[in-house]
Amino acid sequence: MTIFNFFKRSTTKCPRCLGKRFVDWDDIRRLNRQLKWVPAPCAYCDATGRVPKGLLSKVAVDCMYLTIDLPESVIEKIKEGDKETIEKGKQRELFVDHLIEYAEHHYLTQNMDAESIATLYLNTEAEKANFSVTKEELIKYIQGVIELKKTKLETLPL
Ligand SMILES: [Zn+2]
Repeated sequence: MTIFNFFKRSTTKCPRCLGKRFVDWDDIRRLNRQLKWVPAPCAYCDATGRVPKGLLSKVAVDCMYLTIDLPESVIEKIKEGDKETIEKGKQRELFVDHLIEYAEHHYLTQNMDAESIATLYLNTEAEKANFSVTKEELIKYIQGVIELKKTKLETLPL
């Protein structure tokens, strides 16, 4: 009984999935990760719904890189605060942020479609990126960026 109570006190409801064990579109919107995550079991609490209280100060709840598709060992390293792993995650987030900005810019200023933006990106920017993507993946992703941008523009208050 004592041990059980102690265990209970030391954990808290997972702030990423709100204890559901699964990150859905509502969570993704709440954490503003629409272009970065898709619904999946929660990596923050390892799909248990609860996390040790100490975790909150070590890893941000919206840490983009921490997702369930990573190998177990990488997830552990992020949660332990391993510098190299976290740096790698940051680089990946910067890459994605740059790609989103790039796609939005070309869509808004030149009204380009996803395929033209992907072609331009691969011809001019791909060398700078440390992450390889196929053209198909890129087109699909940029399409998502454009769709979200459209939704945001439509819901702007007049
Ligand atoms: Zn969770």
